[in-house]
Amino acid sequence: MSVYVVGHSSPDTDSVASAIAFANYLKATGTDATPVVQATSLNPESKLVLDKFGLAQPEALTDAGGKKMALVDFSDIAQAPANIGKAEVVAIVDHHKIGDITTGSPIFFYAKPVGCTCTVLYEMYKNNNVALPKNVAGAMLCAILSDTVNFKSPTCTPEDKAAVAALTKIAGVSDTNGLFMEMLKAKSSIDGVPIKDLIFRDYKDFDMGGKKIGICQLELATLDQVAAIRADLAKGLQAVKAEGKRHSVIMMLTDVVKEGSELLVFSDEPAIIEKAFNGKLSNGTMWVNGMMSRKKQTVPPLQKAFGA
Ligand code: MG
Ligand code: MG
Ligand code: MG
Repeated sequence: MSVYVVGHSSPDTDSVASAIAFANYLKATGTDATPVVQATSLNPESKLVLDKFGLAQPEALTDAGGKKMALVDFSDIAQAPANIGKAEVVAIVDHHKIGDITTGSPIFFYAKPVGCTCTVLYEMYKNNNVALPKNVAGAMLCAILSDTVNFKSPTCTPEDKAAVAALTKIAGVSDTNGLFMEMLKAKSSIDGVPIKDLIFRDYKDFDMGGKKIGICQLELATLDQVAAIRADLAKGLQAVKAEGKRHSVIMMLTDVVKEGSELLVFSDEPAIIEKAFNGKLSNGTMWVNGMMSRKKQTVPPLQKAFGA
C-alpha cells in the first residue's frame, strides 16, 4: 500500500512542496509513496510554483481512513484530513510545535525549529545523499522563500538561508528576490477572488483552552489592496465564525513591505485578544508592528492568553 504524503488543510506552498519532496524522498529510499493535497484547487502562489517548475498538482485527498499516511508541515488533528484517527500515520516531518496527533507504533518523526518544512527535507536529502531532482528543488526553494517571507520572518534561521543557497544552484535559479516578488504578486492578487477563498487561502483552526479559534492570514504588498473589500471580508469572517461555532476568528492582513499585520478580530471575548497582543481594538481591528508569522508571533501569545 502506498504511503500518502499530505500537508495541512488550506495547503500553502510548503505543504504542497513538502508533500512532493518527501514522497520523492521515500520513493528514492525504497518506500512507495504518493504526494497528495487537502484541496481540489491550490492557491495562486502554489499554482505558479508548480507551473514554473513543471510539476503536476498532487491529487486531492480529504479522507485518510484506512490509509497509510505521512504528514508534512503539521501534526495537529484540526489540520488533518477526515478520519486521521482511522489511518496509520507512519511518518511526520515538520517545523511547527508538536500537535495532538498520536500513534500506536513507533514512527519516523523529524522536526526542527526552522523556517520551513522544506528546509528540514533539504537536510534529509543532503545528509543521506539522496539525489534531489531539479524541479523538486525549485519547488522547495519557493516554499522556503514563501514561509520565511524572503528571509524577513522571525522564523527564518541560518539553516533556511543555507538551504536556499544550495537549492538555488540545484534548481538553476539566479534571482531569488525576483522569484519572491513574482510569488508575492500571485499570492496577494485578490482581483475577482471570492471572499471565502481569500479567507481560506491560508486558514488554520486551533484548539485554545477548549475554544475553537480560526486564524487566517493574507500576505499583501500593501494594505491598500483590500481597501475596497473590507466590509465584505468582515461579513465573511463573521459567517465563518458563526458556521463553525468558533469562539474567535482572526484575520491577519500582513503588509510584507511595512513588516507588520493588521488584525481583524471577531470574538466572543475580544478582551482576551487585546490582552494577548497588549493593544486596543478599534472597530475590531488592531495594527501589530513587526507581526509577520502566525506560528511564532500570533499563536503563542493567544495560547498564553487563553490559558492553553
Ligand atoms: Mg504551512
Ligand atoms: Mg511550513
Ligand atoms: Mg505560511
